[in-house]
Amino acid sequence: MMVWGVGIGVLLLLGFMFYASYSIASGVYLKALCRLPQTGRSVLLTFDDGPDPVQTAKVLDVLREHQLQALFFVVGERAQQCPDLLRQMVADGHLIGIHTWRHQSSFPMQSAAAIAEDLQRCCDTLQSITGQRPVLFRPPFGVTNPPIAKAVGRLGLKAVGWSIRSYDTVASRSRERVADRIFRRLKPGAILLLHDDRPDSEILLRLLIEGLRERSYTITTPSL
Ligand SMILES: [Zn+2]
Repeated sequence: MMVWGVGIGVLLLLGFMFYASYSIASGVYLKALCRLPQTGRSVLLTFDDGPDPVQTAKVLDVLREHQLQALFFVVGERAQQCPDLLRQMVADGHLIGIHTWRHQSSFPMQSAAAIAEDLQRCCDTLQSITGQRPVLFRPPFGVTNPPIAKAVGRLGLKAVGWSIRSYDTVASRSRERVADRIFRRLKPGAILLLHDDRPDSEILLRLLIEGLRERSYTITTPSL
């Protein structure tokens, strides 16, 4: 009986640890903004994993066409390869945050010192390109843990999560289906997780802009 009790306790603890690490909204290790503080019918568009020389340029074109701004969490190494896209983002009024230097799956398994070094390199590179020091950070895969929290605190970064994950990385899912799933989950202050490096990123963006307008939602301009 006692053994069963201990077993269930261990399972519950493991379940909690998994939830704490893999749910950005849990806030157990690191507090992250996952919803806009204002209550109006506005949403924030966030794009991860770029810049991509072809796709990000298309996303920027659509946003410019509609005079909309978004928050881009860029990968340092990719930013270094496409500095003009970063400058274009700043010129168009978008906000840029960091999404690690290389977006490796091993990122969360490193020491706090190694994570801080990675984030610092990303910050320094973006600052040298844009002249602005980024202060926002989104952890890859939404994973947080004590070393990441320590590194983020040391660098004075603010973590940003999301309230709606689009699953736009699932290539087999039609963009209409991805958009409909987002619309069903909409709430005032929603933060949408999108990606600007997909072959059809700009197609989904057009669907979202149209659908949000039909539902009387506005796309908010990100600010610090
Ligand atoms: Zn990512």
